[in-house]
Amino acid sequence: MTRSAYYEDLKELARQKRAAFCVNTAAFGLAEVRVIYKQEGICLDHWPLPRKVKALYMCEDGDCSVALQPTLPYEPKLFALVHELKHHFRDRVALGSGVIHCGDYDANELIEKGAEVFAAEFIYPEAEFSADIQALGINVRQASDIVEIKRNCKAKISYHFIRKRLERLGHITAGQFDGVQFQKLEEQIYGVPFYRRRR
Ligand SMILES: [Zn+2]
Repeated sequence: MTRSAYYEDLKELARQKRAAFCVNTAAFGLAEVRVIYKQEGICLDHWPLPRKVKALYMCEDGDCSVALQPTLPYEPKLFALVHELKHHFRDRVALGSGVIHCGDYDANELIEKGAEVFAAEFIYPEAEFSADIQALGINVRQASDIVEIKRNCKAKISYHFIRKRLERLGHITAGQFDGVQFQKLEEQIYGVPFYRRRR
């Protein structure tokens, strides 16, 4: 199977699983992914992990568990938990009783990138994103346009996710906004949210 066929297959799997779990993009967050974990019998553990590891997946004799880096912010945490679902659905058999350390792109490049593709499609399918961007009517010319997209975004996704998606869909070029600190820019435009203000 070619790399692109592998990715397309995973996107299809993501859409099937979304349908099976009745995922509604706007209402999908950490509480909802925890329900899926429960239904799938995946135990969520809170072991300390090395800083470079975002999460890990392991399964032994049918006991499946995921450990998650507790320091991750909300959106990357959600993304990592859905990334682990791909290992659960697709890599479990080949894995045997091993462990996948996620974030190690050199060791398992294809299955890791495949998990990123799966998670992106699961959380916010490309076609739905594309239709929403069109409905918003924003042509991305400057960094503040991406801030507008984020603020109008119904899915719980990060700036990193939005940039990658816009790149893939040809709205921006690779590296076009490298070095932009979007969170800071958003705070410059809209002010610091009250929960992040220093007291
Ligand atoms: Zn992984």
